[in-house]
Order: sequence, then C-alpha cells, then structure tokens
Amino acid sequence: MAWNKPLPLPTAISAPYWDGLKAHELRVQQCDKGHWLFFPRTHCPTCGSRHLEWKPVSGNGTLYTFTVARIATMPEFTDEMPQLLAVVELDEGVHINTTIVGAEPEQLSVGMPVRAVFDDRPGSVTLLRFAPTGSAHPSVIPAEGVAEAVVAVADAAAAPEAPKRKISAKDLDAMKSLVSTEYSPWSNEFLVSQEVINDFAKLSGDDYWIHTDPEKAKVKSPFGTTIAHGSLVQVLASQLRIPLDFEVVDFTNIVNYGSDRLRFPAPVPSGCKIRSRSRVKSVEQVKSGTQVTMEINIHVVGQDDRPAVINDLVMLYM
Ligand SMILES: [Zn+2]
Repeated sequence: MAWNKPLPLPTAISAPYWDGLKAHELRVQQCDKGHWLFFPRTHCPTCGSRHLEWKPVSGNGTLYTFTVARIATMPEFTDEMPQLLAVVELDEGVHINTTIVGAEPEQLSVGMPVRAVFDDRPGSVTLLRFAPTGSAHPSVIPAEGVAEAVVAVADAAAAPEAPKRKISAKDLDAMKSLVSTEYSPWSNEFLVSQEVINDFAKLSGDDYWIHTDPEKAKVKSPFGTTIAHGSLVQVLASQLRIPLDFEVVDFTNIVNYGSDRLRFPAPVPSGCKIRSRSRVKSVEQVKSGTQVTMEINIHVVGQDDRPAVINDLVMLYM
C-alpha cells in the first residue's frame, strides 16, 4: 500500500522518542533534578541541566486544548476529516501536540482524560495519537489498517440493497418526476492509491511526473504530492455505487451517449478516498427513446462543497 502522507524524520536527538513509539511505549525525557521535558532536547528548559534520561511514562493525560479542522491542513489528510487537532497535557506535566482518534468532535471537552494510541504507519514510523480514556478505540492502530478499511468498504458495497421504486422508461411523466436539484446519498468510498494512478498512467500512456513521481511532486507540484489524472477519477465512477432509490425498467437497450459537460474543478491527491453522488438533471423525449442527463459529481471524501469531477452524463433508454 503506497503511503503518501508526510511522516516524521527522526533526528539524533529525537530518535529515542520514535524508537519508543515503535515499541508502543511513550518515552519522555527527565533531567537529574526531576523536571520532565518535551519536545526532545539536549538540555532541561527549567534548570539548564544537560543530564537527561529517557523514561517510559503511562501515556495518560488530559485534553489541554483542541480545535476541529474542517478544511484539511494538507490535501493528504482529506480522508481524516474533520481533523481533531489537540494539545494533550501528560500526567507528568508536559504538553504534546497531537490528534485525537476514537471520538466525535462534539464529545471533546477541555480537561477530559485521554490515553495514548500508537498509530503504526507502513515503514518505520509509529505516530502518537490520543483517545478519550473511556473510549473503545484500540490502543494500537496497525499499519494494515488502510487495507482493512478498503475491505470494509467492499463488504458494505456487497450488502443487500433496499427495495427501489421501479420507473418505466416509457412513462415520460414518471421519468420527469425523477428530475431534482437535490443530490442522492453518497456512494461507497474508493481509495485512489499511487498504484491505481501508476496503472492508469501505464494504460493511458500519460505518465507525466505530477501523477507518477511522488519525490519530484513533493518538491515541485503546487499540491505537494502526486495527483490522480482527471480522466482516471472520471472512470472510477464505475467503482462508486450510488444508492439510488429508483430503478429504470421497461427498456430493451441503454446507450451511453457521452457527456454534455465534463469538468475537473479540484485535484485528487494520491492516497485520498473519493465518493460520488448524483441527480437526474433532465429528461427528454427524443426520436429514438428517452434521453436522461445525470449529473454525477465525484468528491474527495471530506470536501463536500467542492467536486473533483462534474460529469453531465447523457443516457438514452431505447
Ligand atoms: Zn531540570
């Protein structure tokens, strides 16, 4: 599984901290006068002592302050929206900048007890996050969690669907009753991994670096990361099953007549999840049958107000 989120780079001073997290243990420095300190340093900010020792602590503390970020701090984090950015005060007194997991924004309150959660990322780094002490959230998030999430989505997609209204393609009034300014519920989610982007680059021949070279994109792309081809995201509509409450019946053939409008208004960074929703935009009787224009919008999960793809798909029921 490609991982496109920025990860910390341990330094000589901070390496013991990251090694501790990797071992699922929170280690904090203490000076020889008994002062605890964080972030990792070469000397005690309270007394100036350079005699510091790394010591394991429980990881228990309280929520010192927090904010709910509803616009992603970086594009790579759109799948974690809203981000619960927090400062935790450990029982030892030091403050740690972190993110909260296992809680909805409205469940958070300053002063509530929290406990450490070790977030194993693919590769060599474990991140420290916190969950409310009483929450059922596991204390370790395994690195395979990303793949499990995809499996969970696939399971949800296989779930039986609710019964649908059947609309005859030959009943123009009934078909016109489907026209709406309201969008359907959201589809399942699909992870646009770097592998998916690479496969599409190979197939289409469009292997421009902004899609395929994460190292160069980190430095040169205005998005700080590789992004999916617009045309890739468009065809991924087939992976997104929109839970429509109606089904068009009573036709012998359905023809994809193309698109009245196709726009890519927002980028889809590699590693983001997408989902879609649709509405019936217009229904017309034409010579060969009933022509339906569906507006299909694909969004990066967490960006409800800004579609990545707008496609006015024209279909002909004959
Ligand atoms: Zn000290």
